[in-house]
Amino acid sequence: MLIAIDGPAAAGKGTLARRLADHFGLALLDTGLLYRAVGMNVVRGGGDPNDAAQAIEAARALKPADLTADDLRVDAAADAASRVSAVPEVRAALLDFQRSFAANPPGGGHGDVKGAVLDGRDIGTVVCPEASAKLFVTASAEVRAERRYLELRERGLDAIHGRVLADMKERDARDSERAVSPLEPAKDAFLLDTSDLDADQVFAAALNFINENK
Ligand code: C5P
Repeated sequence: MLIAIDGPAAAGKGTLARRLADHFGLALLDTGLLYRAVGMNVVRGGGDPNDAAQAIEAARALKPADLTADDLRVDAAADAASRVSAVPEVRAALLDFQRSFAANPPGGGHGDVKGAVLDGRDIGTVVCPEASAKLFVTASAEVRAERRYLELRERGLDAIHGRVLADMKERDARDSERAVSPLEPAKDAFLLDTSDLDADQVFAAALNFINENK
């Protein structure tokens, strides 16, 4: 079983992916972490994530241990990720890792792993077009910015609402307008707008779609 979840930032993909992985006993890969790790490796080395050559070098040198760095969740990592991810060679370098994870999902010690859930921007369209279920999870930019703002405040970080919304829109535009693997739903994806739903309702709607299409 292979579940592909795509959509813009803060739409609820991560929470849904984790719940589906737990429910079905599947391995989970947050593919955004790969791009964040590449972006932060450039930034930490004093480089510029807008420089394609530096981004390509960092993507080709990426090691599994880089995915556990503790600064990958900060907004600077998201920003750097959305810059390096527009470079075709960066995407190509990360493709093998994602496809082999989907083909041979690693066990987590919780018994048999029966497949994988991958979440990102191009899982249903490029990485795993053969996925058994494709979900495109979205919400209005205002709702996503509000969620992100509350999450930042909860973590004790300073955040300005208008700035969070502006950053969100900027990243949406970069992800949707890039020439390679732009953010877009696969033709056979289930579109799930989470603007007016809580996490339980999102999970129930996704489960319903998956079970009906098995
Ligand atoms: O999902 P997350 O917010 O961690 O992703 C960070 C950035 O990485 C996205 O804004 C996008 O530019 C890039 N990304 C991508 N393709 C993926 C996952 C993430 O281009 N499959």
